[in-house]
Amino acid sequence: MNVVTRFAPSPTGSLHIGGARTALFNMLFARHHNGKFLLRIEDTDKKRSTDKAINIILRDLEWLDLRWDKEPVYQSNNYHRHREIVDKLIKEDKAYKCYATKDELDDLRQKQINEGIPYRYDGRWRNKEQSSAPINIKPVIRLKSPLEGQTIIKDMVQGEVKVDNKELDDMILLRSDGTPTFMLAVVVDDHDMGITHIIRGDDHLTNAFRQKVIFDALNWPHPKFCHVPLIHGPDGKKLSKRHDAVGADIYRKLGYLPEAIRNYLLRLGWSHGNDEIISDKEAIEWFDVKGLGKSSAKFDKTKLTSLNAHYIKQKNNYEILELILPMIEKNSGATVDGVSREMLLEGMNSLKNRSKTLSDIADQSLVYVNKLPLNFSDKAKQILNSENKLLLSKINRHFNDLSEWTAPNIENWIKTYCDKNNSKLGNIAQPIRAAITGSTQSPPIFEVMAIFGKKEVTLRINQAINS
Ligand code: GLU
Repeated sequence: MNVVTRFAPSPTGSLHIGGARTALFNMLFARHHNGKFLLRIEDTDKKRSTDKAINIILRDLEWLDLRWDKEPVYQSNNYHRHREIVDKLIKEDKAYKCYATKDELDDLRQKQINEGIPYRYDGRWRNKEQSSAPINIKPVIRLKSPLEGQTIIKDMVQGEVKVDNKELDDMILLRSDGTPTFMLAVVVDDHDMGITHIIRGDDHLTNAFRQKVIFDALNWPHPKFCHVPLIHGPDGKKLSKRHDAVGADIYRKLGYLPEAIRNYLLRLGWSHGNDEIISDKEAIEWFDVKGLGKSSAKFDKTKLTSLNAHYIKQKNNYEILELILPMIEKNSGATVDGVSREMLLEGMNSLKNRSKTLSDIADQSLVYVNKLPLNFSDKAKQILNSENKLLLSKINRHFNDLSEWTAPNIENWIKTYCDKNNSKLGNIAQPIRAAITGSTQSPPIFEVMAIFGKKEVTLRINQAINS
């Protein structure tokens, strides 16, 4: 079978982390089977869909490297096709015009509420003579849903699920303004796009029954359904806007790597033995429906962050540099010149080891970006008191004794100096740090000194003494 999957976001906001997981699962399933992964933008709800949201979703899918095949399908472009299908259903007497007014339906709803039964349209126009139709009312088109029996779905995750057909009322296919409903549009588009498998959140399971009824009415085979339990927040409730950081864009801004997010989302509801770190290649090789769990997974930001730290360490230093440059420039307003870039590359291993996100690296990188004169932090100013300034001037004079300016040599030299002067390493390292970085926190100070070079260190210490 030629597998074709799809991701079908409604562009009403940013890409939700749960949506990103749905896209990932569909992409991996398609890649695993050498099939196609398509993207459909479900923009028929013109009031709620925005171009801005479309652009954000496309941008974040690309950022996450969840690449789709072919051009995206915009559901609103298929308007005529949707109407054509409804006309066909009317001709085949499988759908009908319903002229019930809002007031009438409100009464019906109230009556059913009073009887303690869920609201269901009662099919009052199903068999009515259309000649009795009022002239001043634009009808909706409803499907003649089966009245008896059951609708059964063999879901690849949930197993066999069924509903009594008497619980499914005659759903609307076309609204009175002629626009197709979500339920109809999804079915027609899935059919026309040749979708073979639908992997999506189990909040769509009830829709699947109705969609199957439409597929059946059209004598179209329906795609295989695969409803995945939703992601929950730490409080055990469905992950939603109420929770912190549910949009993929937030993680991009916070400096998470796409590969870390993919790996994390993959493990959120899918497993392959005890494997935690899974490469993209392995993910494609291993992804199967068997690995999908039946219970909802909890979103754990700490776990995501530690995976991110892992992927940061793995990533090539040049690539990290390219990723952090815009962040540094945006945050500090500084331009990163060639000298700073060289220094950043030299110090990158330590920066990576100390960081969990790209933003952490960008923050710590300032030590190699800030030029003289430095802005000393309050804590650094405190450390640079007259006693420490005196100490620094003594040490500064002796740096010339050091033949090779490397981090281990500098460290040894300072340790020996401490021993001779009965001092502790921190008592010397901290004033040096404050003097040459303007701060009390930095990557390992001897490494920073080595990367700056003797001349620059001497210059910085002199400036700090005279500040
Ligand atoms: N557009 C729907 C949503 O964003 C998904 C529809 C589907 O996957 O069938 O929730």
